[in-house]
Amino acid sequence: MINFAVGPVMMDEEIRSLGAQEIPYFRTPEFSALMKENETLMKQFMGAGEKARALFLTGSGTAAMEAAVLNLFTEKDRVLVVNGGSFGARFEKLCQVLQIPHETIYLESGKALRKEHLTAYEGQGFTGFLVNVHETSTGVYYDMDLIADFCRRNQLVLLVDAISSFLADDFQMEQWGVDLVLTGSQKALALPPGLSVLVLGERAVKRVQEHTVHSIYFDLKDYLKDGERGQTPYTPAVSVLIQLNRRLKRIAEKGLSAELDRIRRQAEDFREKIKSLPFEIMSESLSFGETPLHPTGVRPDGTPVSAYRIFEILKDEYDIFVCPNGGALADRIFRVGHMGHLTEADNDSLISALKDMQNRGLL
Ligand SMILES: *Cc1c(COP(=O)(O)O)cnc(C)c1O
Repeated sequence: MINFAVGPVMMDEEIRSLGAQEIPYFRTPEFSALMKENETLMKQFMGAGEKARALFLTGSGTAAMEAAVLNLFTEKDRVLVVNGGSFGARFEKLCQVLQIPHETIYLESGKALRKEHLTAYEGQGFTGFLVNVHETSTGVYYDMDLIADFCRRNQLVLLVDAISSFLADDFQMEQWGVDLVLTGSQKALALPPGLSVLVLGERAVKRVQEHTVHSIYFDLKDYLKDGERGQTPYTPAVSVLIQLNRRLKRIAEKGLSAELDRIRRQAEDFREKIKSLPFEIMSESLSFGETPLHPTGVRPDGTPVSAYRIFEILKDEYDIFVCPNGGALADRIFRVGHMGHLTEADNDSLISALKDMQNRGLL
């Protein structure tokens, strides 16, 4: 099996064998030390400032998104949400459910965020900005310099979901003035799903401390407090945290830029090789994490080749997973991920399978 999905992704041998070990008791100085090391390395790789804090939540990325919105904002705020696909829609829904006053900037599928989209919201009394830096559902990477400038000028609290971008694209938390950034274990961290990480700058920490939230599990005050001694309020995903520690240390050994380069090369190699096949890349602005593809071929009966059907055939007949889209985009787009334990030889296998499908008249 080769998995080009955008999470969970392929894990390397060392990480998989760590997952097969017995799980140690965790209220110990040893586990606390490992957690402090995880915090230091997560902050470093996010480009966070000295005073930032990293918190570890057991729950998938959406749990971290919910915790972030719940703890950072109240009904006294007025936030802007960028919605260019299903993950932007999730932030919008969280604001609805948690009753945070908000307005939404809707973007067409595949379109980049531009200066013109923000102009109408300058000086309008907003207090926060919510964005998924890489909108994974459509494969659009937003311009963080543009967003950072807008937020600085308007003094907005900036919350960034970098779940599918962290380690695939460079992230500069402090330089961009990001208040809270979050990520999940099953994307470019290439670990099992179930763990999410939030990195909070000073202003976000202050907001968390000042706000009362109607939740027990998602009250980040307790995570801040217990995190000071390398612990969490509730039983964490201990084995995934041990795998995280190994993964972060392995990245540190080679340097963060080597890991970023590895994923960038994996993406560039694929984008070069796919040129010979009947696909169009459907995003104005790409992350190195994935490539969204639209099949341009037409079947003998005159119907367009279905993206979802390509996903099914690759899965059932070639043992290769790509990432299908849901809803209105299901027949138009599928995505190829470049995160995780993949190599250029894996790209070759996918390209050969697609060429074989082409020879069989399926593309
Ligand atoms: C994967 C992902 C999430 C998290 O989804 P979960 O299924 O809850 O892990 C959130 N935002 C983005 C941009 C993602 O790519």
